[in-house]
Amino acid sequence: MASISHDFPFGIMDVVQLLHLKVRRRQVNSAYVDCPFCNDYRGKMNVNYAKDAWRCNYCGESGGMLALYARMNNTTTSDAYREICDALQTGEYYDPGVSSETIRSGSTCGSSRSSGAKNETAGELSIVPQSEKATPQQVHQTLSLLFDMLSLRQVHRTHLKSRKRGLSEEQIQMYGFKSTPPYFLCRSLTERLIKQGCTVQGVPGFYMDKNGNWTVNFSDYTSGILIPAVGIDGLIHGAQILLDKPMKNKDDPPDKPGAKYIWFSSSNKHMGTGSGSPLLFLGDLSANTVYITEGLLKAYISHALMHRTIAATAGANNTAAFDELFKCLAQNGTKLIIEAQDMDKYANDNTAKGASKIYLLARKHGMECRRLTWNPNFKGLDDWQLSLKYGEEEKPKQRTSFKEAFLWGECSFESVYRYLEEYNSPDSDIADLHAFLGLTEEETEVFCTQGDTELQKRLMCQQRKQYFRIYQLNFDGKQKTIPFAYKGFQDMVKAGYSQPPAGSYRKVYEGSIVCPCIAINDTVLRKIRSRFGTELPEGYPGKPVAPSDVLELYDEQGRSYFYVDTEGFKRVRFSPFLAKSL
Ligand SMILES: [Zn+2]
Repeated sequence: MASISHDFPFGIMDVVQLLHLKVRRRQVNSAYVDCPFCNDYRGKMNVNYAKDAWRCNYCGESGGMLALYARMNNTTTSDAYREICDALQTGEYYDPGVSSETIRSGSTCGSSRSSGAKNETAGELSIVPQSEKATPQQVHQTLSLLFDMLSLRQVHRTHLKSRKRGLSEEQIQMYGFKSTPPYFLCRSLTERLIKQGCTVQGVPGFYMDKNGNWTVNFSDYTSGILIPAVGIDGLIHGAQILLDKPMKNKDDPPDKPGAKYIWFSSSNKHMGTGSGSPLLFLGDLSANTVYITEGLLKAYISHALMHRTIAATAGANNTAAFDELFKCLAQNGTKLIIEAQDMDKYANDNTAKGASKIYLLARKHGMECRRLTWNPNFKGLDDWQLSLKYGEEEKPKQRTSFKEAFLWGECSFESVYRYLEEYNSPDSDIADLHAFLGLTEEETEVFCTQGDTELQKRLMCQQRKQYFRIYQLNFDGKQKTIPFAYKGFQDMVKAGYSQPPAGSYRKVYEGSIVCPCIAINDTVLRKIRSRFGTELPEGYPGKPVAPSDVLELYDEQGRSYFYVDTEGFKRVRFSPFLAKSL
């Protein structure tokens, strides 16, 4: 049931108002406001007026209403109490000798208000009674029977099997993904569950409708794919919905993408229950090594592709649940935790904070922790694994001619005979020799009449050497995150730079490539990017070339610098002497 604090002459929404926090959206027992601590404008801080408590889902900060005021004004909770009372002119007197604990018990505020009075202060707020959560076994039984009754729509199946998700029919079956049912089935599904002996009260998603009947919270608005959260105990503790249509709030900033995932929950319904943020565990309970990532579907996909033991929470900062999990893993013999959060951990302080919490929790339970870093062109562990799965097939089938390959230094001159062999093979359907070799008619003529030495001489005249250097952001020093790491030029500008800050870079490579004389900078840069993209040359100490890197092209005439953008390159100014050397 809702717990209402009667001990204060004000509620947390009064504090929110006093602090001018922007309310983004209201729910039944809580509101989402902009977090003053991470300066995020997406309304990630949940302010619960049933509990007078707050928590930011983005930076993970949390506390009671006095702490909210105290932290923002850099004061104690006792002073916070007095100042709030003053500001609200409630006429309460505060005795400095009394601790905030006694304030909480109500001894100084004899005139505590009833919940009705509280509703008055907070305007339209009212408390919706909630059910106490059922036991994990009850939740599991009800949800697994519910999922058994549901099917997976064809459009969802196609999505899960697409290249974006890469799951097979068997994996979809095994993981138990289902489509949310239409609204009109909610009542009858619930009735069937009750008839089968399931508890529905206290199970996330279930609530009591206006007529006093139990039902379940599915609607067109929240339709999508159900992704079960199966814990280390093998029980379903809840589910996320991958929404068909991202959910936008009407006062969201226009550039804010809507929420793609929500928890299957009934926390804003009469006698409903919140889902909490249960974690997902996939694999072997006594695995030596366990991977940690964020996002349930991401974990399923990574598990399907890597066949490793993986645990995930819904968000990077949702790490509290890992404490219990790590304790359990350590007891079962796990030695190594591999933190595989999104590559955002190099750009975003909050993701970085979540990642270091994982590290500390692993250490706390006596396990080693390593950070997994991959090709930064891919954001999540699943994106990276999918690129490994599909990478080969994605390479263009179009074949390069002999001349092009030779001028780019990708084959020896002698390879011309390999091309000729293919041209002459009985099942070849190549009509035009010079087009196949990439030679001009004149060059073909030279080759046929004067032989290969003469052709080689002519081609080598069309070749030049291009010297270049690769600079990448440096995370060796104190800097743990750089706001535009692996992001495009505009993100760098947004982070307050007009040119890449050379002091944050280090030189990771210096070399040259052979290229056609006529090749322009952009073509050369593309070639460098693709050569240092996936399969890296042996001994190359850097990461694959990715956005936020700086490439230098140089010769006796001078140097030019290019920022690697998400698409293409941007000419920039750069001071190489500020960058660290290898
Ligand atoms: Zn925050």
